[in-house]
Amino acid sequence: MSTQSGELVIISGDRIKFVPKFIKSLQVRIATLLILFVVLSCFFLRVGILKSYEQRSVAVRTAEIQNQCTILGNQLVSSNYLENTDSAVINAELSQLSNLYNGRVVVIDDEFRILKDTYNLQEGKTIVAEDVVKCYRGEQTVNYDEENRYIEIGTPIFDSDGKRVLGMMLISVSTQSILNNVAFLETNADIWSFCICLVTALAAVLVGILLVRPLKRMSHSIEEMTKFEGNYLHENAYNETSQISDAFNRLWERFKLLDESREEFVANVSHELKTPLTSMKVLCDSLLVQPDVPVEIYQEFMGDLSEEIERENKIINDLLALVKLDKTGGNLNIQSQDINALVERILKRLRPLAQKSNIELIFESYRSVIAEVDEVKLALVVTNLVENAIKYNKENGWVQVSLNADHKYFYLKVTDSGIGIPQEETEHIFERFYRVDKSHSREIGGTGLGLSIVRNAVIMHRGAIKVHSELGEGTTFNVRIPLNYIAK
Ligand code: ADP
Repeated sequence: MSTQSGELVIISGDRIKFVPKFIKSLQVRIATLLILFVVLSCFFLRVGILKSYEQRSVAVRTAEIQNQCTILGNQLVSSNYLENTDSAVINAELSQLSNLYNGRVVVIDDEFRILKDTYNLQEGKTIVAEDVVKCYRGEQTVNYDEENRYIEIGTPIFDSDGKRVLGMMLISVSTQSILNNVAFLETNADIWSFCICLVTALAAVLVGILLVRPLKRMSHSIEEMTKFEGNYLHENAYNETSQISDAFNRLWERFKLLDESREEFVANVSHELKTPLTSMKVLCDSLLVQPDVPVEIYQEFMGDLSEEIERENKIINDLLALVKLDKTGGNLNIQSQDINALVERILKRLRPLAQKSNIELIFESYRSVIAEVDEVKLALVVTNLVENAIKYNKENGWVQVSLNADHKYFYLKVTDSGIGIPQEETEHIFERFYRVDKSHSREIGGTGLGLSIVRNAVIMHRGAIKVHSELGEGTTFNVRIPLNYIAK
C-alpha cells in the first residue's frame, strides 16, 4: 500500500514495515552512497596516517637515542666511567641526554649494580630485569609502552675491542612530544575531514540531481505522451536511457497501431451494422407513407425486411465468433478429433447451399486423419472456406475439398471453379471487413469477417494458411495444421 510519505511493505510473514518514500529515491541513494564513501575514506585515512606517523616518529626517536647511547657508551669506556663515576664531563653529558629527551638514564656495571641514575633514585642498588640481562648478553632492547607513553631502550656497553660487555645503559624517554604532535595532527585532520564531508555532501546532492535529471526528463516525456502531447522519447544522456527510449518508442508505435486498428474496427463495425438497419428503415418508411398498399407489395417488402434482419444477424454472429476467438486465444478446447468425419459433416450441411447453384461438392480424402484440435474452431475454418468456395462460384461449378497428412501436419485444400481473386487483392482478403467486390459480396450475404475468423483459428492451432487464385478461373486455399497441438 502506498501513502503520501512512504509505503507499507510486507517483509516476512505478517511483519509489515513502513518504508519512507525518500529512501526509494535514486537521488537520495546516490547522494547517501557518495557521502558514506567519502566519510569512510576520511575516517580510514585519518586513522591510518596518524597511526603510521606515530610509529614512524617512535622509530626515528628510538634510532636517534640508540645512536647517542652507542656514542656515549664509547665515551664511558674511554673515560673509565664504569670504574669511577666522578667524571664531571660524562655526568654532564648523561644529564644533558636525560634532559633532552625528558627521560631517565641509568648506567649499570657488569655486576648489575646501578652506577648512575639521572633521577638519583636507585644509585648503588642492584637491578636484575629481563632487559638488563639481555643487554648483558650483548643485545639491544627496545620497548614502547603506548599506554604510559614512554620508550625504554637498553644498550650494552662494550670494551674497546667490542667483545666483552662491561656494563649496560638503560634509557626511558617520554613520547609525550610525539603524542602532542599526533594530537595536533588529529585536530587538523578533524577540521579537514569535516570540510571535505561538507563539500562532498553538497557535491553529492548536486551529482544526485544531475544524474537523475535524464530519468526525470524521461518520466516527464512519458507523461506528455500519455496525454498525447508528446511524440517520442529522445533521451540520449546515457546509453541505458537511449536503450530504454528506443524500447519504449517501439512499444509506443505498437500501441498506436493497435489503437488505430481498434478505431478502424469500431468504425467498420458501426458502418456494417448500420447498413442493414438503414435498408430496414427505408423499407418500413416507404410502406408507412403509402396508404392502401397492396398485399403483394407488403409481402415483398416484408421478405426484404426479413433478409436484412437475417444479414444483421449474420454480421453479429460473425463478430461474436471473431471476438470470442480473440478473447479465448489461450483457451482452446483441444481434443483428439477425426478430421475426415468433421469435414464430411460440414460438407453434408453445406450441400443444399451448393445445390442451389448446381455446384458439385467433392471430398477427396487421402488417408484417415486424427489430430488434436478444437473442434468448434476447426469447424469454423472448414465451413467458412467451403461456404466462400460455393458463394464465389459460378453456376454449375465445382468445389473440391481434399484432406491429406504426413507425420507432422494435416493438410486441408479447398479448391473452387469460381470467380477468383485479383492478384493484388489476395494479401488483403484476411483483413476484417475486407471484401473484393463489396456489392457482390453484400448481395450474397458476405460480411467480410469470414476469412479473418479462419486465419485467427488457424493461427491458434499453430498452423498456416495460403491462398492461390486465378481471376476468372478459381481459387485454392491451403491450410496446414500440426497433428499434435503445440502448447507454447
Ligand atoms: P465475406 O463474408 O465477404 O465472404 P470473407 O472474409 O469470407 O468475407 O472473404 C473476404 C473476401 O474475399 C470476399 O468478400 C471475397 O471477395 C473474397 N473471397 C473469399 N473467398 C473467395 C473465393 N473462394 N473465391 C473468390 N473470392 C473469394
